[in-house]
Amino acid sequence: MLGHHGKRAETVACRVCGAVAEKADSHHYVTGFGYVCRRCGLQPVVCDGCGAKVRRMTVTVLRGRTLCLNCYRVEREKGEKRLFKEHLADSVEEAFTAALENSPEGYVFVGIRLKPSSKQVWVAEYEREDIFLSRCS
Ligand SMILES: [Zn+2]
Ligand SMILES: [Zn+2]
Repeated sequence: MLGHHGKRAETVACRVCGAVAEKADSHHYVTGFGYVCRRCGLQPVVCDGCGAKVRRMTVTVLRGRTLCLNCYRVEREKGEKRLFKEHLADSVEEAFTAALENSPEGYVFVGIRLKPSSKQVWVAEYEREDIFLSRCS
């Protein structure tokens, strides 16, 4: 699960305590949140869906909410898989930057195109992070 698409060239550090990974497998990747070290990963967190106490490494953060596996599964079924957002820009480079910087929480920027009949409005497409990741592995 770790480093399967090599987009992280930077050092892997724990999002909670900042501990830097010595080995790639000493940190866990929490979808929507980032890497956590083993110690922080074992700490209990409260699920925003059902209130259950679960270990941090088992949760998924979806649109800013920490969810246990069960709640995440329920959310995933009803959540939107793709999102579109419009950005105003003069060039494709500018639109690209704006789209990346304004990625919605929990979504990955996958592409951009000019809105039909417009010269400045770009439509950025985002895919939900968990779907994006499962497609890449
Ligand atoms: Zn930590
Ligand atoms: Zn829950």
